[in-house]
Parts: sequence; structure tokens; C-alpha cells
Amino acid sequence: MICIGIESTAEKLGVGIVTGDGEVLANEKAQYVPPPGSGIHPSEAAEHHAREIPDLVDRALEKAGVEPDELDLVAYSKGPGLGPCLRVGATAARTISLALRIPLAPVNHCVAHVEIGLLSAEREGLDFGYPTTLYVSGGNTQVIALKEGRYRVFGETLDLPIGNMLDTFARKVGLPHPGGPEIEKLAREADEPTELPYTVHGTDVSFSGLLTAALRAYEEGEPLENVCAGIQETAFAMLTEITERAAAQLNSDGVLLTGGVAANRRLSEMIHTMAEERGVEAHTVPPDLAGDNGAMIAWTGILVHEHGLSIRPEDVPKEATVEQKYRIDEAPVPWRG
Ligand code: AMP
Ligand code: MG
Repeated sequence: MICIGIESTAEKLGVGIVTGDGEVLANEKAQYVPPPGSGIHPSEAAEHHAREIPDLVDRALEKAGVEPDELDLVAYSKGPGLGPCLRVGATAARTISLALRIPLAPVNHCVAHVEIGLLSAEREGLDFGYPTTLYVSGGNTQVIALKEGRYRVFGETLDLPIGNMLDTFARKVGLPHPGGPEIEKLAREADEPTELPYTVHGTDVSFSGLLTAALRAYEEGEPLENVCAGIQETAFAMLTEITERAAAQLNSDGVLLTGGVAANRRLSEMIHTMAEERGVEAHTVPPDLAGDNGAMIAWTGILVHEHGLSIRPEDVPKEATVEQKYRIDEAPVPWRG
């Protein structure tokens, strides 16, 4: 079984090729970069994806050493995401399905983050039957765990996603995009983290007060390094606390850290320390598989297909839809049932 997967929920476009044994043969990416100082315009990101996707598919096939007629399955991100971007990926996937007469697997983007994380953990010899996942990216901040046959959100941000908060702070103080890695670098030079508001409501977090206070501290002359360290110490401790709460409630066997922000060493360290104290394993998904990517869609597509949830080519025109607000608990995951 060889599956090609297309990821296009936001500003990143990804095409991955994965085998039925979970071997990642290719995981190619192209990123839409908005003009300096402005945010992401969905229609411009979608135009970028439409322009890039033919080349990216060719590159992935070449990298994998696979001919189009060797593909058995095509998978795409059905949602959640930005409508115009989702439609580009779905259209490309439908075209591949119809041209090659192969089934099409719709994938929930958030489920895919967890599944590729579990595959990555398994590759390291870890086996989390029931993990708690902290998924932290530009657009998402969620604590996800399996309950009653579905992945469910046990905690989340009530306002800004963590990556968005880091990038916004960075932009406002004149650091380059993406801001997360810049903040991490500066934080290492701090003498003392600035004290900032810590806001946890039960299993949820909120970052807008922290962002406002961090910007104010900087404007009032606090060294940028200290503010960056303060942001990291405070925000990551909040995330670690809600992850721990879910892991304890659910009696999880392990903790998975994924999403683009998982690249942060300090966050990873806090999550691993928490897991150690609980006596469970933790796994930080490596950046290539933690950020949005096509391999995670291809791998989850294989699971979807093996469990009879893919779409036959003849049904593609009416069944292959996208859903901007496709919630993780709406996605069936019978392989975990
Ligand atoms: P994603 O949306 O999953 O592609 O992740 C992108 C987000 O990850 C952006 O908000 C980046 O600022 C953030 N990010 C990437 N590397 C780091 C890092 N080392 N520390 C903190 N945030 C990071
Ligand atoms: Mg993502």
C-alpha cells in the first residue's frame, strides 16, 4: 500500500508519500509567506498553494522513487482550516483520485497530528496505548485524548493559539516571522524572566492578558531577553499544567508533544519533566513530522482506508467535501476503538 497525502489547511502546503508499514518515503513542503508586517490572507495562501501543488506532487513522487501508477490511495485534509486553502488541497486530491481511479481518504487534520506522533513514538520503541497529546501550533492549542472511541479536546486556549501569540509578540517588537524560534533564542540570554500573568481556567488557558502584559513590560524598558523568557516560562507552564491535568484524569500511558511549537526545547523539557514525575513516557515529535505536513495526512489516510472510510472514485464528485470547522471529536477513529 502506498498513499499520497495532501495537507493544505493553512499557510503551509505539504505532500507526503507513506507506505502501509508507516515508512515515510517523501514529505515535501512549500510555505506561503505573507508580506512583512501583515497576517495570512486565506485567498492569497490558496493562490500560492494552487500554483505550487503540481510541482510539489512531482517532487514528492521523485523523492519517493514512486511512479503515479504505483499509488494505491490519495488522502487530503478535510478540515479544520481556511476554506480557500482546504479547497485547493481537496481539488488536487480529487483530481488524482479520478485520474488514477484510486480511492480518496478524507482526514481530520488534528487527528493526523496525533496519529503521526504515535507512529513517531512507536518508531522510538515507545508504546502509548492511551496518550494525552499537547498540540501546539500557529493556529491551534489543544490537549487531546482518546475517550469512548473518539479523540476529544480536554483543554484548549480560550483566545489566542500559543504560536499566534508568540508570532504576534515578535512582530510587535520588530522580530522576524516566525517569532517562536526568535523568542526561544533571546530567552536563553535572559538574566531573569519577567513576571507575567498566569491564566489557567480549569483545563483551559488564555494568552491575551499575558501578551498585553509582555508588550507593556517591553515598552516600559524591560530587556527584551527577560520578556521573552517570561513569556516562555509562563505560557509553557500553563500548557504543562493543563496537559498534566488531562493525563492524570485519564490515566494516560504517555504524553505526546506535537505541532510547530513542539520544536521549542524549553517546552519539551517541561513536558518531559512532568511526565517523568508522573512515571509515564513522553515523546516530542521531531519538527519534520510535528509541523503541518503531508506525511501525517497520508499515514492517517491509510488508517481511514483500512477501516472502510475512504471514498470510491465513482463517489468522489459528491462525497469529497471540506469542512472549515471539522472538530476532532466528529472524526471517526475506529482503529482506536
Ligand atoms: P505550525 O502552525 O504547526 O506550522 O507551527 C508554526 C508555529 O510554530 C509558529 O507560530 C512558530 O512561531 C512556532 N514555532 C516554530 N519553532 C518554534 C520554537 N522553537 N519555539 C516556539 N515556537 C516555535
Ligand atoms: Mg496543524
